[in-house]
Amino acid sequence: MRWYSADLHIHTALSPCAGADMTPAVIAEELAVAQVRLAAVTDHNSCENVQAVTAALASRGIACLAGMEVETREEVHVLCFLPQLEAAWDWQEWVYRHLPYRPNDERRFGPQIRFTADGQPAGQVERLLALSIEASLDEVVAEVKARGGLCIPAHVDRPAYSLLAMLGVIPEGLDVPALEISPYAREQEVRQQLGGLGGYRIVSFSDAHHPSGIVPARTTFYIDSPVLEEIRLALRGEAGRQVVVLD
Ligand SMILES: [Zn+2]
Ligand SMILES: [Zn+2]
Repeated sequence: MRWYSADLHIHTALSPCAGADMTPAVIAEELAVAQVRLAAVTDHNSCENVQAVTAALASRGIACLAGMEVETREEVHVLCFLPQLEAAWDWQEWVYRHLPYRPNDERRFGPQIRFTADGQPAGQVERLLALSIEASLDEVVAEVKARGGLCIPAHVDRPAYSLLAMLGVIPEGLDVPALEISPYAREQEVRQQLGGLGGYRIVSFSDAHHPSGIVPARTTFYIDSPVLEEIRLALRGEAGRQVVVLD
C-alpha cells in the first residue's frame, strides 16, 4: 500500500461557473505540478468530461475517479463518485432526467464546454447544468449507492449550497462516509462552529474552478490502488487503509 495525495473535487470548463481554461490538458499540468496522484472530476450535474480528463491525467500517471457535484432539491451540493465509466454514464442519465430543462444563457452563466476523449473542445452542453435537480438528498445518496458509488456532502462549512446551511443539521442516518470542508477551512474550527458534525470523517479538496485553484492536496489516502473501493475502505478506516487531512 502507498500514500496518494488526493483532490477529489475539481471542475472543468463544463461547469458554467468554471474558467474556459479548465481544459483536460491544463488540469493535468496543474495537478502534476501540485504533485496530486489521485483526482476526481466533479462538474455540476454532469459527467460529460470525465473520460477526457481521465485520459489526460493517465498520460501524467495521475489516477482519476468518475464524479459529479449534484445540487439536490434542497440546494445541497453533494459530491458523487462512481466506480467506473459505465456507472457514471448511467448516473448522468438519471440526473439529466431529474434536471429541469432550461437552455444555458452563456452570457449570464458562462460556457459549458465539452471535450472529446482526446481532450479537444467539442462544442457545448446546451441545457443549463447549474440548477437543482428534482430529487432529494436521500434519493441521490440511495441512487448513487445502488450504482456502487458513494456520496460526500460538499463544503459543509460554506454559508450557501451546503448541508448545514440549507438543512441546519445532518439528517439522521445519512448514509455518507465523510463530509467535505472548504480548502482553507480548519477541521477543529468547523467542528466548533457548526457542532453537529457527529462522528463523520472530514476530508478537504480544492473545489478548483480555475487553474490557480489547483494546489497541493490536503487529503492523503493510504490505499492499495487508486480506485473507489479503496477510498471507501480508507474512509471507514478498514483493512489498514487510512486517510489523513492536513490542518
Ligand atoms: Zn459546490
Ligand atoms: Zn464544486
